[in-house]
Amino acid sequence: MIYFFSFFIVHYLLFTAFKMQHRAKKRFGQNFLVDTNIIHRIVNSINPQAGEHLIEIGPGLGAMTRPLLETVAKMDVIELDRDLIPQLESNCADAGQLRVHSCDVLKFDFAELVAQRASDTKIRIVGNLPYNISTAVLFHCLRYRHLIQDMHFMLQKEVVERIVAGPEQHATYGRLSVMMQTWFDVSPLFSVSAQCFRPVPKVESAILRLKPGSHWQDQILDPAAYEELVKRAFAQRRKTLKNNLKTLCDSDRLVAAGIAPSQRAEELAVADFVRLHSRLVETRT
Ligand code: SAM
Repeated sequence: MIYFFSFFIVHYLLFTAFKMQHRAKKRFGQNFLVDTNIIHRIVNSINPQAGEHLIEIGPGLGAMTRPLLETVAKMDVIELDRDLIPQLESNCADAGQLRVHSCDVLKFDFAELVAQRASDTKIRIVGNLPYNISTAVLFHCLRYRHLIQDMHFMLQKEVVERIVAGPEQHATYGRLSVMMQTWFDVSPLFSVSAQCFRPVPKVESAILRLKPGSHWQDQILDPAAYEELVKRAFAQRRKTLKNNLKTLCDSDRLVAAGIAPSQRAEELAVADFVRLHSRLVETRT
């Protein structure tokens, strides 16, 4: 009942906002959620609990913020567009305590925020991400994986497909898939039609859940070296691993890790990358 009432309010506020004030800015990737059923479904998937530390990236006018805030009572949000903030605050005023960080999420230090709270509670990050920087946001959040309980993101459907792809899906599998699957259990939840946003985007969207703790993480002894290995392996997709990795390892070490030098990065599973990384770290001179 409380959800129903709050979605009604959000819907009304968003409708009024669009008619009267806010003109969506393309450079900030602004496509606002206006479909109350989808907002409800996303909030249900996040399943917020009182007392949890939720952080929303790009709250916009508060379509997701308000129902989340009503449950957790206190919430941090990171919003780059200063023009939106007064309206966001007013839309959420009676829902709980909103802490707005008016800055670029790519420069935001999640560790500092956690340190300020002086609590062991892990953070839950959510957001209908601006699509122009969504991959950069994922890599930024990756750095804070040790502080994260989970993340729920609205992304372009095509990006979700790339993240969850395996080596059998050559066209979509790549650096993003390997890096995300190495550190997170990734679960695509459901698709979201372009009609659920205003303005209507040109692409379809989907919700993705990422939970740290995939079984590979204990085997990555040097995360920076692993990231570099994956980056170089995919640097020129059509080239063999022998070519792409020539400054990192010779053919003998590839063979010793059970990988044929003539293979391409897109043919390796995450387990292969992890094994190669372990081998390289063990045989470092
Ligand atoms: N959450 C709102 C919704 O679902 O209606 C808005 C989502 S809209 C796709 C993306 C939001 O991210 C916008 O509010 C935009 O201003 C904000 N944004 C864009 N770039 C950002 C950045 N670098 N850091 C933080 N917020 C950003």
